[in-house]
Amino acid sequence: MITLALSKGRIFDETLPLLAAAGIEVLEDQQRSRKLILPTSHSGVRVLLVRASDVATYVEYGGADLGVTGKDILLEHGGQGLYQPLDLRIAQCRMSVAVRLDFDYASAVRQGARLRVATKYTRIAREFFADKGMHVDLIKLYGSMELAPLTGLADAIVDLVSTGNTLKANQLIEVERIMDISSRLVINQAALKLKRAAIRPLIDVFAHAIANPADAS
Ligand code: AMP
Repeated sequence: MITLALSKGRIFDETLPLLAAAGIEVLEDQQRSRKLILPTSHSGVRVLLVRASDVATYVEYGGADLGVTGKDILLEHGGQGLYQPLDLRIAQCRMSVAVRLDFDYASAVRQGARLRVATKYTRIAREFFADKGMHVDLIKLYGSMELAPLTGLADAIVDLVSTGNTLKANQLIEVERIMDISSRLVINQAALKLKRAAIRPLIDVFAHAIANPADAS
């Protein structure tokens, strides 16, 4: 049996076509079901539903053999002990700096102002501003970062941006693009050795499906 850890939402939805390319169909509707372990049409494969930030932990400790998780989470929590063979190019977005529309970020940077930056991604933010030679005070938040500049809690945020609609709806503007983000396949190294015959073909099918997206449609 191989166990694949996925998080609900975009990663789950965008992994389904890759599984389909391998002839694997998830048999429960993750929107309706309260089950956390979902059977698939392949008796040797099951899907575990975990929080996005827990996927790497499950795979690292062998609670799952493999999983799909964002580059943001791998950078923030570290990908120790994980084999990362593939960028699946799903759940694509970017990590950006955003400020209020009326905040003059460029002149704050020019003047070497010490900015207060709210984010869930403190590691990525710390490295980004250190590389720019900027001094910032980081404020750790766990969600709704858009509120921070609106309430005066922070001058700027570092967050994921996809369409930009959330920033726009909150009168915020993207002022720096830190990096592009997408989701990766991560594999427990011991599982890769012990269950190679089951896991290797999956990696190959996923790689082929990514390289030939037209085949899937
Ligand atoms: P959008 O309004 O499309 O720019 O999406 C921005 C919101 O969705 C922010 O709250 C982000 O934290 C979240 N978001 C966007 N893309 C992703 C992703 N790939 N993974 C997790 N959260 C995301």
